Amino acid sequence: MSLEERARRERLLSQAAAAADACRKCAIGYERRHNVYGEGDPCARLMVIGEGPGETEDEQGRPFVGRAGQLLDRMLAAIGLGREEVYICNTVKCRPTVAGPYGPRNRAPDPEEMANCRPFLDQQIEIVAPTVILALGSPAAKSFLGRDFQITKMRGRWYIGPREIPLMVTFHPAYILRQTGGEIEGVKRMVWADLRAVRAKLDEPVSPPSESSELVEARQGSLFGDE
Ligand code: SF4
Repeated sequence: MSLEERARRERLLSQAAAAADACRKCAIGYERRHNVYGEGDPCARLMVIGEGPGETEDEQGRPFVGRAGQLLDRMLAAIGLGREEVYICNTVKCRPTVAGPYGPRNRAPDPEEMANCRPFLDQQIEIVAPTVILALGSPAAKSFLGRDFQITKMRGRWYIGPREIPLMVTFHPAYILRQTGGEIEGVKRMVWADLRAVRAKLDEPVSPPSESSELVEARQGSLFGDE
């Protein structure tokens, strides 16, 4: 990727982020502290898309920070990718909340909010033009694959995403962190299989691959090691 092309994409993303920051199309646009547009390599081959910013993301104006973000970092590292090498964003750029006894709580974005914000997401996908999209969690998957998508039954396969980019769905890191007891190992196994499929897809079109399969395999053990 030429320096000129990288600079062009950075400029376009910066302009789009400013437009998103000014947007008040949804009620949550008035309630959020920061617009969380997205961040990462403008020339990334992998784009990771979650559902929406949570409390910590809203505070910091960055996607996937806090415990779920740290787990995402480890998931990416397990397939040989640093956070700075991918592009990370959400289906909506403002934090969806619901009133709770101690203040606003996170909630999943509703279909109208996702539809309102979709032009920003589509624009990001067009600018970054990733090789692979990884959707994290059911709301993000449904935004691409329809409301009938059932993550427990339908994750772990390749779908045709926007702009015909291969799309993989796996569980959201926050969901993984909520698992307890005997369910943890099963969820970890499924997520690891999905991540390996992403790594293999990234290794398909360009050569040489950046990681050997043996090295990726060796990292499986440490993927969730400190959970
Ligand atoms: S969620 Fe998206 S469309 Fe809605 S107000 Fe925020 S930036 Fe605008």
